[in-house]
Amino acid sequence: MKKIKNIGYLLTYLGFAFFIGSIFTGTYQVKPKDFDQWIIDKNIKSNLFIEKTRHDLINRELNSWRLSKIIINNAKASNTQLKNQKKIEWSKIIPLKWSKTSKNYIYPLIRKSATGWFKSHPVLWFFLTFGLSIIGGLLVFIPDYKLLGPAGIKNNGIFQHSATNRGLIGMITALFFIAFYVVLYFFPNYIVNPILAVNGIKQFLNNKEASQWFLYGCMYCAVMSVFAVRMLIKYRHNRYQILRTVVVLFFQITFAFLIPELLEAFNQPWFDFKNAWPLNYSFFFDWSIDGLISSGKFGIFMFVWGIVLTVLIVPIMVYFYGKRWYCSWVCGCGGLAETLGDPYRQLSNKSLFSWKIERWLIHGVLGFAILMTGLTLYLYFLEIPSWKEVAFGISGYDIQNWYGFFIGSVFSGVIGTGFYPILGNRVWCRFGCPLAAYMGWVQRFKSRFRITTNGGQCISCGNCSTYCEQGIDVRSYAQKGQNIVRSSCVGCGVCAAVCPRGVLKLENGKDTGASRTEVKDILLGNDIDILTMAKNNPSNE
Ligand code: SF4
Ligand code: SF4
Repeated sequence: MKKIKNIGYLLTYLGFAFFIGSIFTGTYQVKPKDFDQWIIDKNIKSNLFIEKTRHDLINRELNSWRLSKIIINNAKASNTQLKNQKKIEWSKIIPLKWSKTSKNYIYPLIRKSATGWFKSHPVLWFFLTFGLSIIGGLLVFIPDYKLLGPAGIKNNGIFQHSATNRGLIGMITALFFIAFYVVLYFFPNYIVNPILAVNGIKQFLNNKEASQWFLYGCMYCAVMSVFAVRMLIKYRHNRYQILRTVVVLFFQITFAFLIPELLEAFNQPWFDFKNAWPLNYSFFFDWSIDGLISSGKFGIFMFVWGIVLTVLIVPIMVYFYGKRWYCSWVCGCGGLAETLGDPYRQLSNKSLFSWKIERWLIHGVLGFAILMTGLTLYLYFLEIPSWKEVAFGISGYDIQNWYGFFIGSVFSGVIGTGFYPILGNRVWCRFGCPLAAYMGWVQRFKSRFRITTNGGQCISCGNCSTYCEQGIDVRSYAQKGQNIVRSSCVGCGVCAAVCPRGVLKLENGKDTGASRTEVKDILLGNDIDILTMAKNNPSNE
């Protein structure tokens, strides 16, 4: 079994090496017609830039780094020359921003110009990257069924291993995650070869060209599937964990990945039916509303569904089941946190200080989302274009961009997932997700969901608090025999799964009002005077 596991590691590292290697290899050749079309699409008007770049790029074989550098250097030179003129021609200035130029300007050209081995062998390439990593990952985890011994919680050595105790391996992993998200969001021009590896799947699904987001979708599903196998083996003694893992994987693969792709195949807008506002922060943006409404009856249905989901379905479901129905059973972010992120759940900070930060941050993001959406709808209904100034030189479009950059990209992606090995697996869900904040209010004040505690059984081992990914000190509730009613609890159920005494139970039976948060008296040894008890109850003698 150990040999199989080692072979698994070897295959995973090989797949990973091919993936990384592809970023630094591969060639690109810009064709004249693609170049001309790119100039038109990007509305580039600087002749200096156009001629120089045409000369530097056309029909030359370049790698992605060199090609990107030529475009940026030429744009800088052109802008400098234009700005040195007496009368600056602003329409000819090429906007250069690190967060935008690569993805908006360079990526479309480089994506079209790929040549060579990666383009001509997509199936083999897919096997060497995705295939080897998936097979390797499964070979690493499946032997655990035997190696870990009988079913039961297995967290042995978790604080000794450098990968899971913020050691060197953990830090390297975090750096890799962070770098991956930065490249994915802002520099897709460097991952064209990995994108080509999944192009065949995209063409099979809807006959379109794969983008970095499609690559991300494929990776997301693949990683979640492999780590779901790990979860199923690790928690095989716990029916709740098995069901939850299977369901969240189902929602990711069908609702977040396959259905939106198939919608595009039928010329409908890409739409994730489970992604509720304000997590889906662009739902009320003008282009989104227009796109849905102009797509006919089905588009209007999707628009109405999005509103009903946010306004009715989400709070009603939270009333009956707590926010766990979404955060731990449906949501893709939660799904990744519960699969890929499970080895890091013990790293969540339990201090009072982090709880204070959590409350300010998460409600701050919710406030930002509400303000931005309110402004967007105001502009939409008054038919004011989003790019027009609202106040102090700021337009509605600027505010949407800031939210997209700081919250949609940096917080939810780069920090939210990149920091798993440092801050635990629910960084985004705990500190940033505005939908979690909204559901948290309903869960705290009007929901049947609570975790009941049989305090007399608690041996204060602290397992529950250690493995609570939301940083809740579960043990302190258990010691008091108090129900856990916290807005941040995502109902993952791991506190109950790791409790050796069966103290904790996730419940959503009928709410009887005060009993939900009531602290019951617990009989502890020190509270009992045996002699007096015996005197008062002669039958006990
Ligand atoms: S209290 Fe328990 S169910 Fe809630 S988030 Fe923490 S571990 Fe999960
Ligand atoms: S895991 Fe169970 S026994 Fe241990 S502290 Fe928590 S509630 Fe008590």
